[in-house]
Amino acid sequence: THFGERQVRLDEKQGLVDDVFHKVADRYDVMNDLMSFGLHRVWKDIFAAKVHPSATRAFAHLDVAGGTGDVAFRIARAGGPRTRVTVADINADMLRVGAERASKRGLDERLTFVEANAEELPFGDGEFDAYTIAFGIRNVPRIEKALGEAFRVLRRGGRFLCLEFSHVDLPVLDRVYDAYSYTAIPAIGKVVAGDGAPYRYLVESIRKFPSADLFADMIAAAGFSRVDAVKLSGGVVAIHSGWKL
Ligand code: SAM
Repeated sequence: THFGERQVRLDEKQGLVDDVFHKVADRYDVMNDLMSFGLHRVWKDIFAAKVHPSATRAFAHLDVAGGTGDVAFRIARAGGPRTRVTVADINADMLRVGAERASKRGLDERLTFVEANAEELPFGDGEFDAYTIAFGIRNVPRIEKALGEAFRVLRRGGRFLCLEFSHVDLPVLDRVYDAYSYTAIPAIGKVVAGDGAPYRYLVESIRKFPSADLFADMIAAAGFSRVDAVKLSGGVVAIHSGWKL
């Protein structure tokens, strides 16, 4: 398909990714529920619970590729009145949906939405206590650059956390998962969002993402310490983490 990334050069990749999320922004949340059978909520709960914003002291959190705000809302709610969450995303449509959802939830005061590229964050060194990126790093063309930026904007003692699709390594489940990904996902995309192509891109990008071991090595290479990876749901997703020490 013309969405197959193999032929697409690195700098064109971002353009493709942006098209996908411009197209799906308004249906994005519904699609997540449909395609993951609601599981993405459980994964995000587990993920966000790893961030421990202070109940009393100031806590500056950065959620990159934050899209419509799911992870940011969870962290903002867990923190105290001096918790501030910055949602950074390259796509203004996703941020618009996120800002609307934030005000519906009465969370505007704790949240800031910023249009920004994960590869070149418009923040100073050491500004944040923690950094999250959920289902985002896979879309970034230069992952090493994004990891370097994560390291830069975190303070010493700050935590890096990444939630991303990984690779299913259980017999039978791997085949069920492949069949579901390659046939059902684009089909649901076509019916609900009117176009299957963006969802074929999604499935391809999951398949091409590095293994959990390799990705952990990349995180360590960016400078992080005590790098860890935990697989959930048989490897459908993984939580990677590290500390800036
Ligand atoms: N974190 C949200 C969640 O879990 O629901 C949104 C995830 S969505 C699958 C991926 C997001 O990554 C999109 O909102 C997209 O615009 C954003 N994105 C893609 N490339 C990016 C980049 N280079 N920098 C920042 N955000 C990017």
